[in-house]
Amino acid sequence: MANIIDGKAISAAVRERIKNDTARLISRSGVTPGLAVVLVGDDPASKIYVRNKKKACEEVGFKSFEYVLPAETPEIVLLELIDTLNREPDVHGILVQLPLPEHIDEKTVIEAISPKKDVDAFHPVNVGKIMTGDYDFLPCTPAGVMELIKSTGTEVSGKKCVVVGRSNIVGKPMAMLLLHANGTVTMCHSRTKDLKKECLEADILVVATGRAKMITADMVKEGAVVIDVGMDRDENGKLCGDVDFKSVSKVAGYITPVPGGVGPMTIAMLMQNTYNAAKKTLMAN
Ligand code: NAP
Repeated sequence: MANIIDGKAISAAVRERIKNDTARLISRSGVTPGLAVVLVGDDPASKIYVRNKKKACEEVGFKSFEYVLPAETPEIVLLELIDTLNREPDVHGILVQLPLPEHIDEKTVIEAISPKKDVDAFHPVNVGKIMTGDYDFLPCTPAGVMELIKSTGTEVSGKKCVVVGRSNIVGKPMAMLLLHANGTVTMCHSRTKDLKKECLEADILVVATGRAKMITADMVKEGAVVIDVGMDRDENGKLCGDVDFKSVSKVAGYITPVPGGVGPMTIAMLMQNTYNAAKKTLMAN
């Protein structure tokens, strides 16, 4: 039976460390890290994400600035708000909650955020830096996954790593982080010819497809570290991952649950990026 990787506990430990670092930063420099979160529209899931981010900010001692705009907000109004936030010294990180309403171009919005305040690491400048390994910000979900792998004591170097899913926000940066850690990385996607064969070779398997329970026990190598990024609904509407936890946990060495695995780490890494952005402003002065 696999060891369960407790994302909640690991996330709590990371946030406790950030809380202590923040208190020290404030007492030494007077700078309080600030995160601005912008929500356009009233998507229920996005509202919950924004609420959780605000709560996490308060818990670690950050300032949080929340902007809720109506769904019909013109793109130019959102761009003007981002421009103001880019110049606001109390704001060190800017996060525009995705997805945006259809009339707003996501790419234009992402590119309007100053790369120095881009705590999601979605701006092309930061994406490029991730490619070269010379990064200021790590994308939150893949960075959280790396922490979870580290918590198992598994050394990535030299390991066969398989990432299923190639999105810009999870799969691609995930593969780069594993590569920077000297893993031998294979990326799989919907056109991969023999997914089972590829997955069976993985010492470390990271799955981010959005397909409920698609990875089954017969696709996993005995003792593998299995990280499930998916946040899906099963046939009964219950939250589940991309990995069939019940069967795979009998084969894997380590496995993340859903919920309580990758999700809590994503927020912890967002706090880490905001703290780093605030600290960097001191170095720039
Ligand atoms: P996405 O943009 O929809 O990308 C899904 C990827 O999976 C695509 O690359 C797709 O391949 C691949 N894929 C789909 N079906 C496949 C199949 N049958 N076999 C192999 N590959 C397949 O999704 P995403 O944004 O990366 O998110 C993935 C999941 O992670 C979702 O459940 C999302 O909710 C979750 N998520 C969780 C967090 C968190 O904090 N826990 C954060 C972000 C995302 P193609 O490119 O060929 O289409």
